[in-house]
Amino acid sequence: MISQALLKEFKEKAGQENVFTEKADLVTYSYDAAVLEPVLPGVAIRPASGEALSQIVRLCNENKIPLTVRGAGTNLSGGTIPLRDGVVVLTNALTKILEINEADMYAVVQPGVVTAKLAAAVAAKGLFYPPDPGSQAVSTLGGNVAENAGGLRGLKYGVTRDYVMGIQFFDVNGEIVKTGSRTVKCATGYNLTGLLVGSEGTLGVFNEITLKLIPLPAHQKAMVAVFDNIDKASETVAAIIAHRIVPATLEFMDNFTIRAVEDYSHVGLPTDAAALLLIEVDGYPAQVEEDAEKVELLCRQKGATSIRVAEDAAERDSVWTARRSALSALAKLKPTVVLEDATVPRSRIPDMVRAMQDIAKEYNISIGTFGHAGDGNLHPTILTDRRDKAEWARVEAAIAAIFDKALSMGGTLSGEHGTGLAKSCFLEKETSAATIIYSRKIKTALDPNYILNPGKIIGR
Ligand SMILES: Cc1cc2nc3c(=O)[nH]c(=O)nc-3n(C[C@H](O)[C@H](O)[C@H](O)COP(=O)(O)OP(=O)(O)OC[C@H]3O[C@@H](n4cnc5c(N)ncnc54)[C@H](O)[C@@H]3O)c2cc1C
Repeated sequence: MISQALLKEFKEKAGQENVFTEKADLVTYSYDAAVLEPVLPGVAIRPASGEALSQIVRLCNENKIPLTVRGAGTNLSGGTIPLRDGVVVLTNALTKILEINEADMYAVVQPGVVTAKLAAAVAAKGLFYPPDPGSQAVSTLGGNVAENAGGLRGLKYGVTRDYVMGIQFFDVNGEIVKTGSRTVKCATGYNLTGLLVGSEGTLGVFNEITLKLIPLPAHQKAMVAVFDNIDKASETVAAIIAHRIVPATLEFMDNFTIRAVEDYSHVGLPTDAAALLLIEVDGYPAQVEEDAEKVELLCRQKGATSIRVAEDAAERDSVWTARRSALSALAKLKPTVVLEDATVPRSRIPDMVRAMQDIAKEYNISIGTFGHAGDGNLHPTILTDRRDKAEWARVEAAIAAIFDKALSMGGTLSGEHGTGLAKSCFLEKETSAATIIYSRKIKTALDPNYILNPGKIIGR
């Protein structure tokens, strides 16, 4: 329990109006986008400055109170489920874009800046921040860095990790640690940036993040290729990559997802298609035309029944808006939706798509599959009702089967959603017992009281 004396200190550091103890408020911070039991924290605190943030971290450590930082709470792995009676630290008052440096092409942001807001601000200056998780309209950059979030453009542009030049964060004592720099190259000290990206709030609390920007691509072309057979679509993905074409985006949707998305967003997707590929190439105009032609040809050779090329920016946007709504569209269909993230080497996409269909049949459950096929990162989405105990048991078994299948193909448990609570029990399957012991040694050295988001990634 958090004592009244400690609450008083929190209020002194963060301001009375930024400390929330009412149950009605705390319920909001008891869950995230993962399907896990909610846990009520003891207090939520919204520091409005780096100084206040550092003091809250220090107080939590001195009093051995577990602390979970929360951006928008959209993570899908239980990363922001707090400990009972612990502290939730909100970053939604730390929302300043501190600098956009056009000459050196970087931005410095506070952790609570919403991803799409930074992308729009830099685009207005002709610059590009590529990582675009489907949640970008609400997710925060702090959350993106802590999860090493990916997005629709991962295939060509990489993931959040590839854009983090440096982080200024608070260690468990509230002291400032600085990693990386604002230079293109930096070989000073340990690669602490690499350690902190994807650390899910377990090793430090970000205060400022320096992000790399690149020039905006001059031209884009988006198209939707329609297939009457799911195998043909997934084989086309492998063929495009094998032909050394790197589209900015290469997304897959099965029929189940197409129907849900069309019902939700009414953009004219062909609901009778077995599968769709949504493809965008970008770059200089001549290169874009050449790549688009090659992609169209490959799609036709592999059996696409039709290809619709977006006529203008509005049509292009509508395609991507529809794709980004896939999870929301599927989530409307059943009370519980479990979005998985297992990822395989790209050449194994056809095998993985087939495996997903087999698993759905074997466990008698509904799985809609969509995702970043070009990255090998599919999102099999299981629609269920957690209150149905028998079905839930089959869902849990199916999830384990999906992980086993991905690992057997040389894949990974998570392409972009992180380990959190949801996957920590599977970690050893992909790594080794020694890997977990090694990771726990790092955690123990940096956070001896285990107060920083305990239980996430490596358990306890
Ligand atoms: C509809 C939908 C679509 C999505 N699409 C994608 C996608 O395409 N790609 C993808 O990768 N993910 C996707 N996600 C998952 C999720 O949006 C990402 O993981 C995102 O990065 C989480 O950001 P957030 O601000 O919500 O962070 P939160 O969920 O609030 O937090 C995530 C983690 O970051 C930690 N954290 C937050 N701020 C800090 C900080 N200042 N210091 C230290 N740790 C911190 C938290 O403790 C937690 O462990 C999607 C989720 C939804 C609901």
